[in-house]
Amino acid sequence: MTGTFFVLGIDAATWSIVRPNLTRLSSFKKLVEIGESKTITLEEKPVSASVWCSMFSGKLPTEHRHESYVVNGEIVVRDAIKVDFIWDLLHDAGKSVRVLNVPFVVPPYSFNVDFKPVGFGLPTNEKEWTEELVRVTAETKRLIAEGPDLLVSVYTLLDRIQHFHWGEDYVLEWYKRVDDAIGELIFDTGFLDGDNRLIVISDHGFCSFGEAKVQTLPEYTKSGRIKGDHHENALLITVNVDYDIERPQDVFYAIKKYLM
Ligand SMILES: [Zn+2]
Repeated sequence: MTGTFFVLGIDAATWSIVRPNLTRLSSFKKLVEIGESKTITLEEKPVSASVWCSMFSGKLPTEHRHESYVVNGEIVVRDAIKVDFIWDLLHDAGKSVRVLNVPFVVPPYSFNVDFKPVGFGLPTNEKEWTEELVRVTAETKRLIAEGPDLLVSVYTLLDRIQHFHWGEDYVLEWYKRVDDAIGELIFDTGFLDGDNRLIVISDHGFCSFGEAKVQTLPEYTKSGRIKGDHHENALLITVNVDYDIERPQDVFYAIKKYLM
């Protein structure tokens, strides 16, 4: 028995919110205490589609060449990206793999799991953010109980919330909700009591709109004014993973080390 390797992705989770609020984010606090935490400073562009693709293919953007959800007015589909993801390789090798809601494409991608993403993977209001949090948490809990070799699960909501509400207390309220969900997944289930392995990771951090090196959205969108944008510093916490993760691509190699 080798246990489950669980990668919990939190799109756009940033240390600049988590670190100063650890007393209010009890699950993050516990993870920081028992695990190893660090910042991944992206050398590649901090765009979600590309970074999630890098993370699970092990390839650089110049190799996978997938940068955005829409190219020439067409939505990019999984088959148009000419890479093998870690779940493809492990599945072919006979491992049990469950992948839920990974936003390298829209709607987010699932593998060996039947899941209908909320709001086409771009939840834009409070009702949809709540729905994503509830449904991804419930499904992830169910998958943890199955005990697959690899489980990947991603929350996308903080990315959207921060774009529209950066600088407001509202952002921290949502971090608390995500923190509660992490508690349900990791601590209430006893996931870390055995020899399971965990990576909690974001694809990029966040900052004020004007401070971002790369502007990922126009300042005014039909959903409202953009107040925050992607920062190159992403969040990483690992528990029981003896592999030096310095770049998104290293997540692929860390999983490979244990499961192939
Ligand atoms: Zn993102």
